[in-house]
Parts: sequence; C-alpha cells; structure tokens
Amino acid sequence: MKPLSETEIRSSIVNATHGEIERMPLPGLHEVLWEEREYLGWRDHRAPLRGYLVHWVQDQPVGVVLRASGASMRPGISAMCSLCHTPQPSDQVALFVAARAGQAGRDGNTVGMYICADLACSLIIRIVPPKLPMQPDPSEIVARRAEGLLNRVQSFTADVMKTV
Ligand SMILES: [Zn+2]
Repeated sequence: MKPLSETEIRSSIVNATHGEIERMPLPGLHEVLWEEREYLGWRDHRAPLRGYLVHWVQDQPVGVVLRASGASMRPGISAMCSLCHTPQPSDQVALFVAARAGQAGRDGNTVGMYICADLACSLIIRIVPPKLPMQPDPSEIVARRAEGLLNRVQSFTADVMKTV
C-alpha cells in the first residue's frame, strides 16, 4: 500500500469523535513495510479492546475504529479471519465491532466482523510453504491472498460508511 502519514491517518477515521481521534496512539510508521501491507492495523496499548484499521480507497485514506468483543471463542477450536481467510486457533481471531459512520453510528448502529486479533492479516498471508514441484509459486499464492484481502477490507469499510 501507499505509505500513510500521521496526518493522513488521523484525518482518515470515519467513525470516532475528534477527542477519540486525538487520543489515538499510532504505530511506529517508519518501521512499517508498506509494500507488504494491504491495510495498516494496530491495537491500542492503552485501551486493549480498541483497534484501528486504515487503508486506501483510491486516493483517499479511510480508517475505522474497532472494538473487540471481550468474550472469547471456545479455546481449542479453529476460527477464520473474515478479512484474510486464514484459519487459526480461536484465540487469535477476535470479534470486532465498528460503529457505523455518521448519525447511524451515533444511534448505536454497528458492523461486526471476525478479524485476526492482532490486525496483522498482511503478515499472516505472507507465510507460505516453500516452493514445491506441481504447486503454485509462493509469490502467486501471496498475490492471490493479497487481492482477496484488499477486496474484503474495501467492502468492510464501505459497509461501515454506508448510510442506513
Ligand atoms: Zn486476518
């Protein structure tokens, strides 16, 4: 993805108040490998249930504040992130809820989705088996996963911004 500046990130959030946006902690942007990211996602170390997800919609950065449901899934079962479609142990996938943008969100309307708990789908989709004969090239596997992830992130934030 195209790199994001702090200003772009703070002005991208569609579903939070000015105060919440001001208090939002940012990850170390200079450490981000932008070319290996479909979206920038991070958890709030001061408010552990809170998370953030920012991506580009054409030339416009769009960000959403997420809230993880405190309830955890039954341990020992397998769960799947709805954005990257990676099956994982259930404790590594969390139900996140995003308030809808605008009045709908202020009225309590939300969109929920199971997402990798660390909001690092871009890292996990790049874990591929070594190249084997008769198997697709690892870079093709990553490209295909990245495309699916991008599409699903776009529809998720489009849903958050939809006026209901
Ligand atoms: Zn994921």
